[in-house]
Amino acid sequence: MRAARLHGPGDLRIETVPEPTPGPGEVVLSIAAALSCATDVKSVRRGHPSIASYPSPLGHEFAGVLEAVGPGVEHLRPGDATFCANSAPCGECFQCRRGRESLCEDLLYLLGGFGERLLVPERIVRTNLFLLPRGLDLRLAPLAEPLACALHALDAVEISPGEAVAVVGGGSLGLMLCALAATAGGLPIVVDPHDERLAHALGFGAAETIRAERGPADVAAVKALTAGRGAPVVFEAVGRPDTWELAVAMACPGGTVNLFGGCVRGTTFVVPTERVHYDEVTLLGTYHHAPRYLVQALELLAQGRWPWRELCGPAIGLDELADALAGRLGRHPKFTVVPSGAPGNVANVGGRTTSTRTAP
Ligand SMILES: [Zn+2]
Ligand SMILES: [Zn+2]
Repeated sequence: MRAARLHGPGDLRIETVPEPTPGPGEVVLSIAAALSCATDVKSVRRGHPSIASYPSPLGHEFAGVLEAVGPGVEHLRPGDATFCANSAPCGECFQCRRGRESLCEDLLYLLGGFGERLLVPERIVRTNLFLLPRGLDLRLAPLAEPLACALHALDAVEISPGEAVAVVGGGSLGLMLCALAATAGGLPIVVDPHDERLAHALGFGAAETIRAERGPADVAAVKALTAGRGAPVVFEAVGRPDTWELAVAMACPGGTVNLFGGCVRGTTFVVPTERVHYDEVTLLGTYHHAPRYLVQALELLAQGRWPWRELCGPAIGLDELADALAGRLGRHPKFTVVPSGAPGNVANVGGRTTSTRTAP
């Protein structure tokens, strides 16, 4: 079968690799769709905590149909349409016992969405592999991974109905945070330099948009929309130290800033001491997801209240992946990678699913 493998920074190849066979507790997933995102762009450029060694598979937002199930897998059968998360916590370590599964000391990552088939290890089958809820199709389901990260971010702050929520960055995660903040009754203000993203933001519940200059003018613009105070909740969804600093400046006294966008390791940012002490601004961060957020994300996608499909980007084949991640197919980091011969239309039948294959 064919799969993408990263041989080192900047060296992504599509190769023929052995067909996987499921062992006890394992399943083989036939990938229907895998989404690329900014994390993949970063992974190719400079690596990522989930990449243990090279060559490494790639692709962490994916869904598919079960091709085969190993001995001992009782609750699933071949043909089931499923969403599979890119990790599973151990459930037993210090952090898992405290309910902080995203900090699991033995978090098991699974990469390999960019390929025709994928062997899913026993722990992920047991913890983080889900039958698709009724009404959710396979091409949209991979969004459950980033949406679960956004739900985790929302869970860490308190949004009061009618209050402003500034979202710095209007990429796909910024737009998800915007939609979730609006769902919670907040009034999202999306701050981004690109007009087309700001136009999308209105479809995801933004009450206001600000054409970002990525400087003090952005802070002034948020204050102008919040009676000079700043926003009670701010999300940073860019992942740069300079935008982290702007996000901290945008919070009102007593506000909370979720520094959600991951910066390059080893970087630092500067916080004026009075923001934390005299202004009582709370700074926090959230990383990754946990099983409970994945369940919520799948339900939210199935409900279809927001135009989630707009976040999936254009469909491409595996052979176009390297060009897509290098920015040669446009600035958008989000593409839907559909391997040839991928499972196609899937419909729920009596709580189970049937699928048909697309022509190779
Ligand atoms: Zn991602
Ligand atoms: Zn753990």
